[in-house]
Amino acid sequence: MSDTIFHKIIRREIPATIVYEDEQVIGFKDIAPQAPVHVLFVPKVDIATLNDVQPSQAETIGRLHIAAADYAKRQGFAEDGYRVVMNCNGDGGQTVFQVHLHLLAGAPLGRFGT
Ligand code: 5GP
Repeated sequence: MSDTIFHKIIRREIPATIVYEDEQVIGFKDIAPQAPVHVLFVPKVDIATLNDVQPSQAETIGRLHIAAADYAKRQGFAEDGYRVVMNCNGDGGQTVFQVHLHLLAGAPLGRFGT
């Protein structure tokens, strides 16, 4: 297994506020939240970036999204809305090289990417 900070969280070697877990995915609060709700959903298998996802791992990537939507529904902000984002490599702003889906919510979010 690789050794990013997220792998250490998966292995419980460093603390995190874990809000979701199943056999394939862990979800925990971002240490530097960019919105009132900012949770990261991370697969437990090693995948460094979106570029590295294999067709056989499509279900894993899908599960990140379903886990995020489940969390939004359980926390009661699904109707108001939220954003999911996956950064890839340098220009995309990726800093931790284990694939992860950001869930941002809790306030109207500004437009981006312009
Ligand atoms: P990226 O920039 O790779 O898309 O997102 C990495 C995210 O991980 C950032 O939003 C950053 O705040 C978060 N992060 C970095 N180190 C830690 C940590 O040790 N614990 C938690 N919970 N989040 C972290």
